[in-house]
Amino acid sequence: MLYVIKVNYEQLLDRAFAELPSLSAEKSDFQIPLADSLVQGNKTIVKNIDQIADKARRDKSEIAKYLTRELAAPVSLTAHGMEISAKVNANTLNEKIKRFFVAYVICKECGKPDTRMEGRDRGYVNIICEACGARYTVKSY
Ligand SMILES: [Zn+2]
Repeated sequence: MLYVIKVNYEQLLDRAFAELPSLSAEKSDFQIPLADSLVQGNKTIVKNIDQIADKARRDKSEIAKYLTRELAAPVSLTAHGMEISAKVNANTLNEKIKRFFVAYVICKECGKPDTRMEGRDRGYVNIICEACGARYTVKSY
């Protein structure tokens, strides 16, 4: 009798673990990319904007738009990458990019980057997570 109870308990545990979303291991795999940047005169070139945008699963114009606002400087996309019309040191740039990922890319519920933005409206935008189904609204940029 005791044996039967034990087996059932273990089965329950197994089921409980199987139902948990596949967490932490995958979560920690994701790394916010670092900008490969270069100051040229009064401009800053971000050479790997394509990679950053790929990691974020956002159009690079979205990142350009965000940085335009955050850095209060015009940002354009060129054949060489992204060009910021200001001198921006690598630390500042990476801090901004990190904030973009934390606010708009990484799901605040499950920590995965599998999100999309939808329905920008009156200064707000919805973040929808394709991994865990979370849906929340944040201030837009
Ligand atoms: Zn999620």
